[in-house]
Amino acid sequence: LGKSDLVMVYHRLPYEEYYDQGKIKRRNPTSPNGILPTLMSFFADGKKGSWVAWSVHDPKYGEFETHTSIDREKYPNLVAARVALSKKDVDIFYKKFSKEAFWPTLHTFWERASFREDHWQVFLKVNRLFAERTAEEAAEGATVWIHDYNLWMVPAYLREMRPDVKIAFFHHTYFPSADVFNVLPWRRDIVGSLLQCDYIGFHIPRQSENFVDVARGVAPVTVKEKQSCAPRFLTYGCAVGLDEMTSEIEVHGRTIRLGAHPVGLDMGRIENALESDEIRQLMTELRQDLQGVKLIMSVERLDYTKGILQKLEAYERLLQEYPELVGKVTLVTVCVPAAREMTVYNRLQNQIEQAVGRINGRFATLGWTPVQFFFRAVPFERLVAYYAMADVMWITPLRDGLNLVAKEYVATQGLTSGSGVLVLSEFTGAAAELRGAVLANPHDPHELMVSCHQALTMHKSEARARLREGYDIVRHYDIAHWGSSFLQEVQAAERCGPALQVA
Ligand code: UDP
Repeated sequence: LGKSDLVMVYHRLPYEEYYDQGKIKRRNPTSPNGILPTLMSFFADGKKGSWVAWSVHDPKYGEFETHTSIDREKYPNLVAARVALSKKDVDIFYKKFSKEAFWPTLHTFWERASFREDHWQVFLKVNRLFAERTAEEAAEGATVWIHDYNLWMVPAYLREMRPDVKIAFFHHTYFPSADVFNVLPWRRDIVGSLLQCDYIGFHIPRQSENFVDVARGVAPVTVKEKQSCAPRFLTYGCAVGLDEMTSEIEVHGRTIRLGAHPVGLDMGRIENALESDEIRQLMTELRQDLQGVKLIMSVERLDYTKGILQKLEAYERLLQEYPELVGKVTLVTVCVPAAREMTVYNRLQNQIEQAVGRINGRFATLGWTPVQFFFRAVPFERLVAYYAMADVMWITPLRDGLNLVAKEYVATQGLTSGSGVLVLSEFTGAAAELRGAVLANPHDPHELMVSCHQALTMHKSEARARLREGYDIVRHYDIAHWGSSFLQEVQAAERCGPALQVA
């Protein structure tokens, strides 16, 4: 048996790998969120651990090293245990299948999904390889923490190989209602696999409860315990609110505990950015450039789930319905392009470019551009300068597991004693948590427009009061809280019951 008491199973390594003249080299991820450092922090006390992730292997570069250290000084006993995948397998498993079959379905766009049995077979193969490597790494009775839908089938394989380990799973992506999820051709296998876990975490109660409904469609589920969602989460008044969630189920003699753990922020990172000379300078420049024009911001990846076209349409209506805003507001959108191979996004990019062109063509005046669209990733620290300057943050996903940008905006405005207003889609996980935001239905262009107008014209005292509510939440429930509360719950959950036979 392996030696690690804690095994992280994350699809990617905590650093980026690339080949240079036949040698494998590494660099820090270009836009790291707080999750990777938080997960690594569990090994800072010298705990023996493994990080299981894929790594592209090309035989022309010689023998593949499965084990390598991650950071010898900071985490002397943490090793990367790499799963060798061919470039073709990565392309199918990660770039194609996950994005073409699972991503649309999870975000309730099942009509966009394409389900290919041959791709599912690659998905199974890759998940099996992950499970095999994990089984080799884990010490007797170890805790294994598996991350997200790319690795849905790992629990099933792992439970077969290692009945002794405690399996925890965190679902980082939205988990839809049974009506939607059950469209997936392989739902029985996927749910059967998740039911091999001892603990499953989601961002918010609604997603967890959706999972319970989905499980009922596969096996008889007995609800053993329920918990009230208040006061941590909104119980009513928003599309993803819920008053009570199931916290323990029993299925064929196995007990599975469930919990809601919305990912939080690394506040220190925002504080550091705000203190840096470069960012202060950028803030001054932005203030000068704006010359009293109100700044509406949005920041997102290029994805149909983010409601970018809907936002542009609503903005066009806003300028049309409220001509007094012409020349007085500007919409700055940072949109991170998808990788070139992800051709599913080409059409959307064209549509967005056309919409931006149309709005600017229609409303621009000499010296004023209604929409400034940046199709590129902006380093996090620079984003913080924009967050600090934005009067309104307009977040419009049609569906989103959480939405960190919403939290980052509230945190930055809170830290700078700002009076900015967050307009947030009620279909984001963050909407169930972030009190004080102006919630809106992004499927309704009129409501989207009205809520943005409400934010632009809100009295400062109301804006500050709303901001304070959200700020208290993001400050208290930060990323360290997310990681430690998840692991605490996992540790408290009993390893209970034999492997399950479903499907
Ligand atoms: N982000 C960034 N640069 C950009 C755009 C986004 O660093 O140009 C970061 C942003 O600060 C946030 C993350 O990317 O931490 C996006 O997370 P979110 O939950 O909002 O959306 P996701 O992309 O995970 O769906």
